[in-house]
Amino acid sequence: MRKPFVAGNWKMHGTVEEARHRVWDMLQPLQEINQVERVLCPPFTALLAVANMLMGTDIGLGAQNMHWEEEGAYTGEISPRMVAEFARYVILGHSERRKFFGETDETVRKKVRAALDHDLVPIVCVGETIGERETGLTDPVVQRQVLAALADVRPEEVARVIIAYEPVWAIGTGLTPTPEEANRVHGQVIRAVLARRFGEEAAQQVRILYGGSVKPHNAAGFFAQPDIDGALVGGASLIPEAFVAIVRAAAEAKA
Ligand code: PEP
Repeated sequence: MRKPFVAGNWKMHGTVEEARHRVWDMLQPLQEINQVERVLCPPFTALLAVANMLMGTDIGLGAQNMHWEEEGAYTGEISPRMVAEFARYVILGHSERRKFFGETDETVRKKVRAALDHDLVPIVCVGETIGERETGLTDPVVQRQVLAALADVRPEEVARVIIAYEPVWAIGTGLTPTPEEANRVHGQVIRAVLARRFGEEAAQQVRILYGGSVKPHNAAGFFAQPDIDGALVGGASLIPEAFVAIVRAAAEAKA
């Protein structure tokens, strides 16, 4: 019922030329796995080049961040109108944005609203830090982040939103929760809070991705879980064979 979804977050890696090579090396195998919604999120500077390469395919393009205002005196920022010229998806509230760039629940809320207003699909990142996990705060932290980010979303819009559960301690570390632990947060925390806020039927339509050290060797374990609808992949999305293997694992597990 929910189409599996795998996005690659390239973060601040690579020039335009390097982006072109990376896309070239994954394009054909990725095109063959159309049971999965596949999305590439290169740096802003490579969006145009990647958009041109993806033209005529059903592979989606996403930005990694954006401002919530249409335009204005915000030096260095990119607006939703600008993102929407190239991309259909936008990652919002990534923990690196929260940690290094002062992103808050409040700014994520504004960005989610702005994304929907510009027909962009927001990929909203939530997740607990190691300190929060060790003090038993995972569930309330994740609940708070989801409710805050979606505070201005109407029930009829929520199916357009994608949530990525990314425990902060699992990002780029090689550490992961067990698939069962991740599935518990997806189902009993995130989908449950969505059901309370938007109704059970709407909550069942929302794709909830797992993110944090997803690699070809562990992807199938996550995708075998019923409430894990795909992945947001960082490091492994920079390696074409690894990213294709993860997308293939999603297709096989959800067949
Ligand atoms: C991410 O940055 O969203 C991420 C999940 O990174 P990694 O896969 O490298 O842990």
